[in-house]
Amino acid sequence: MKTVIIIGGGAAGLMAAVSASWDHKRVILLEKNEKLGKKLFITGKGRCNVTTACPPEEFLENVMTNPRFLYSSFKRFDNQSMISFLEDCGLELKTERGQRVFPASDHSSDVIRVLRDACRKGGVDIRLNSHVSRIHCREGAFSSVELQNGEMIPGDSLILACGGKSYPSTGSDGEGYALASSLGHKIREPQPSLVPFIMEETWCKDLMGLTLKNVSIRVKDGKKMVYEGFGEFLFTHFGVSGPLVLTASTRLGKFQKALKEGRLSLILDLKPSLTEEQLDRRFLREFDTFRNKKIPNVMDTLLPGKMTPVFLARAEMDPEKRVRDVSKAERRRMVSLMKNLPMHIRGLRGFEEAIVTRGGVEVKEVDPATMASRIVPGIYFAGEMLDVDAVTGGFNLQIAWTTGYTAGKFA
Ligand SMILES: Cc1cc2nc3c(=O)[nH]c(=O)nc-3n(C[C@H](O)[C@H](O)[C@H](O)COP(=O)(O)OP(=O)(O)OC[C@H]3O[C@@H](n4cnc5c(N)ncnc54)[C@H](O)[C@@H]3O)c2cc1C
Repeated sequence: MKTVIIIGGGAAGLMAAVSASWDHKRVILLEKNEKLGKKLFITGKGRCNVTTACPPEEFLENVMTNPRFLYSSFKRFDNQSMISFLEDCGLELKTERGQRVFPASDHSSDVIRVLRDACRKGGVDIRLNSHVSRIHCREGAFSSVELQNGEMIPGDSLILACGGKSYPSTGSDGEGYALASSLGHKIREPQPSLVPFIMEETWCKDLMGLTLKNVSIRVKDGKKMVYEGFGEFLFTHFGVSGPLVLTASTRLGKFQKALKEGRLSLILDLKPSLTEEQLDRRFLREFDTFRNKKIPNVMDTLLPGKMTPVFLARAEMDPEKRVRDVSKAERRRMVSLMKNLPMHIRGLRGFEEAIVTRGGVEVKEVDPATMASRIVPGIYFAGEMLDVDAVTGGFNLQIAWTTGYTAGKFA
């Protein structure tokens, strides 16, 4: 009987262990933490957005880096396959706004439990507190792994499912890249993705905690559009975050130089459903009704109250001024600013706050049909350590399920 060793008891490693066990292989799952799925546990704010219910043909459109690499593995095990697998294991699921699939219980621990039970049913030898420090080869092919305590575990094949670098406290601290690199694999520089922005504008701090719903943003490199989107936006003590910003961060792969040189701007449209003309008419209506009031009192009908002082300062408007004294040019300036509030991106927050890692094991050196290394026979890869990442909505976990399933099947 062949022995398959898997490093990493996260989403990809657990799925790899389950699928390998279905093929009657001897499977050993090594996890350095004291428990399985530490990161899985915190996904979806503890509810685990386990996959997406989008039509499978739309899935790859949501993968930002190397979508074509996933083409054949996704055909073999797609989001519908994952939904069926979980339901067959007795886990009830529900689909929410944006086709996000969650366990009906709202507990990520139920997803971990189902995967752990499936491993046990398949006879997987789960070894916790097992920290792999080296990989050994014989005659150019995989032969064994060495644990930090010196124990050697021989096997016929090895799946690396060590995760990326984000949220290192969960165990995915970039160590997998060092192991892959020790085998001769090229690593594309890991960078935080699905991550908040640090902004030049210090006034963001004054708005900390304020969420704006139904706004739109444009991220630009000079005149070049990098990202345009509509949704929810959040101010923080260092800059901005929220779903819109996190999604925008996934588009920065090709704009690293512009980011480093501080050339990226973010333009916030606070009234995306109105044209400038429509918004101007709205201003006129409010101004006509409240002619004798001070400007902030009227602005509160157009903006969240917390935002008014910041907005008026940006528009260089005296808050003591009465509405009747506002000139046409001043009104126009406010309208224009409400549609195009300019801000400047100074950087990204770190891996500690990034939902995923962009970069990782170069996919050209991995067979997309089997996840096998093209460099060392017997080595396979799965999950976030590969140079593949997607937007939010269950896509990143599905990448882990798809590549984990495939690696487990072929290892
Ligand atoms: C806060 C947060 C929320 C998220 N929410 C969602 C969501 O709702 N939906 C979604 O699709 N995605 C979500 N993601 C992304 C998703 O969690 C990851 O893409 C996914 O967990 C990657 O799975 P993985 O198995 O590749 O890596 P991981 O889950 O990180 O697992 C890797 C495992 O390998 C172990 N390991 C590493 N090195 C070694 C070693 N040398 N020896 C032994 N073990 C080792 C680690 O301890 C770890 O347990 C979220 C991420 C974060 C941080």
